[in-house]
Amino acid sequence: MQKGHISVQTENIFPIIKQFLYSDQEIFLRELISNAVDATTKLNALASKGVFKGEVGDTTIEILLDKEAKTLTIRDKGIGMDEDEVEKYLNQVAFSGAKDFLEKYKDESGIIGHFGLGFYSAFMVADKVEFVTKSYKKNRKGVTWVCEGNPEYSLDKNDKKERGTDVVLHISEDATEYLEDNRISELLNKYCKFLPVEIQFGTKKEFIPKSEDEDAEMEEFEVPNIINNPDPIWKKKPSELTDEDYKSFYNELYPYSQPPLFWIHLNIDYPFNLTGILYFPKLNNSLEVQKNKIQLYSNQVFITDDVKEIVPEFLTLLHGVIDSPDIPLNVSRSYLQADRNVKRIGTHITKKVADKLNDMFKKEREDFQGKWTDIGPLVKYGMITNDKFYDKANKFALLKNVEEAYFTLEEYKEKIKGNQTDKHNKVIAIYTSSPAEHDSFIQAATDEGYDVLVTDTMIDNHFMQQLEHKLGDITFVRVDSDTVDNLVQKDEKKESVLSEDDQKAVEEIFKGQVPEAGATVTMKALSPNALPVMITKSEFMRRMKEMQSLQGMGNAFPDSYNVVVNSNHPLIADKLLKAENEEEKSKLAKHLYNLALLNQNMLKGADLTAFIKKSIDFIGK
Ligand code: ADP
Repeated sequence: MQKGHISVQTENIFPIIKQFLYSDQEIFLRELISNAVDATTKLNALASKGVFKGEVGDTTIEILLDKEAKTLTIRDKGIGMDEDEVEKYLNQVAFSGAKDFLEKYKDESGIIGHFGLGFYSAFMVADKVEFVTKSYKKNRKGVTWVCEGNPEYSLDKNDKKERGTDVVLHISEDATEYLEDNRISELLNKYCKFLPVEIQFGTKKEFIPKSEDEDAEMEEFEVPNIINNPDPIWKKKPSELTDEDYKSFYNELYPYSQPPLFWIHLNIDYPFNLTGILYFPKLNNSLEVQKNKIQLYSNQVFITDDVKEIVPEFLTLLHGVIDSPDIPLNVSRSYLQADRNVKRIGTHITKKVADKLNDMFKKEREDFQGKWTDIGPLVKYGMITNDKFYDKANKFALLKNVEEAYFTLEEYKEKIKGNQTDKHNKVIAIYTSSPAEHDSFIQAATDEGYDVLVTDTMIDNHFMQQLEHKLGDITFVRVDSDTVDNLVQKDEKKESVLSEDDQKAVEEIFKGQVPEAGATVTMKALSPNALPVMITKSEFMRRMKEMQSLQGMGNAFPDSYNVVVNSNHPLIADKLLKAENEEEKSKLAKHLYNLALLNQNMLKGADLTAFIKKSIDFIGK
């Protein structure tokens, strides 16, 4: 038996390995299984080139747990190593690799992927590692390398008969979780689900009928439990796949979720390598819950489901997988953000998504409109946060009006500009964030021949601001931001049937009824058919308030609104002015004001109860 010292330098890196990225300790299994996969793939390559002339046979990688002996073994039937190679690769290449890696990233937190620590990551969980291996080469004896978590190792010949390697981890006292079947299953499922070589973990029971008869007895079989799908569909050609294949793969990735709306199969080989499938999930109008579902792989090895450094943020709403050997995996986030390849990948994926949407819009507009509720939030989010995407998406982004008709931005401007252009030559788009709450305002606007958009998703306020900013010639106003005559400022004034003095008198009566702070009474000569009193909220003030509450500043601005009194309405022009005494006038004004509040969903609590009581009494009279 030969004994040796791994590194000529005296520094002992094992304690550092042990502490290193404690939270990511579990990746040791991925590292070791990746090595086993590499060794197997290399053997297959040598066999297909005719370099290896022996029998390849079954190459399943086995994961073996022995609770008594407290060992976890990763067994492959790959190329194995002879003595010289062990000396070279384990003692030198792997060791200095691990050392370099640790030196470089000792002080970095948040390293993505952690590839590079390699074989020596075994010492995060084991205090002794046996590497029992036999090369595929003829006339090579097997060798066993043992290391007990310090720079000393021993190397010994063995009688191993089969080609390949057993890596036996003697699990340390503080890592006994890795002796549990469930924990290992969980890790295999997380990191190894799509590795290209079959991986077996124990056996499972399968029931097979004993004969062809319908009521044949079932016989129980023990069959190998293969934990991975070595041939995932993202590696295949789209032409070989059906919609069903894509859907069932989605189900494999996210069991029990709603089927995806559609998908994009990525297959890029220049200027970088990337395959993958991105799915559009049903968003159901929410942007938060579904994030971080894209899985990043490198040659089918799972790396992370945190892809926000690689994919533009708005696309993290998508689901699916990205597989690229060209993404640097053992670097810090800041490095990754600056990496050219990573930038290109982001740009390319953005383009693909935009192209796909554009294609759908052009070829199947009806269908596209039907899906807009689900696609819309993502497209809008993208248009707000990504200029390149905006430039493409402004051709297929849709606006919907209260009649459920859809328009592109261009189409919509074209439709409304004749009737809805103000004196400054700006197109005025009128919107409602809630058709149910703004019904009377919507009716007033449509009676006037105006079109009203429905903008009822969380992101619409930002989206409209972005359009105002980008297009420059359009302004959005909420349908209750002003009276209908003034929504689109055209400079036409109606005459009031009341004299100046009478108007002043009415104004004073209403001033006595509204709160002193926040409410402003204005007299307006509207159509006698319009409501007698209306509450409007200035677009500007409302946006300021909304912005503040979004920024978590609470109610720095008080609620402010206008109480618009229609001096041409008969209840104002006749009844109110001609009422017997001040008390009657106040009563009527109060009632009309309450109706206006009710119409804006602003009459609440005790005021609402009192109002309802009064109305009931009144009907009883
Ligand atoms: P990496 O895999 O990144 O090269 P590792 O430290 O994981 O680094 O491994 C170092 C080397 O040891 C590998 O490149 C390979 O040559 C060899 N090796 C590791 N595990 C095995 C194995 N199971 N079978 C054959 N060779 C292996």
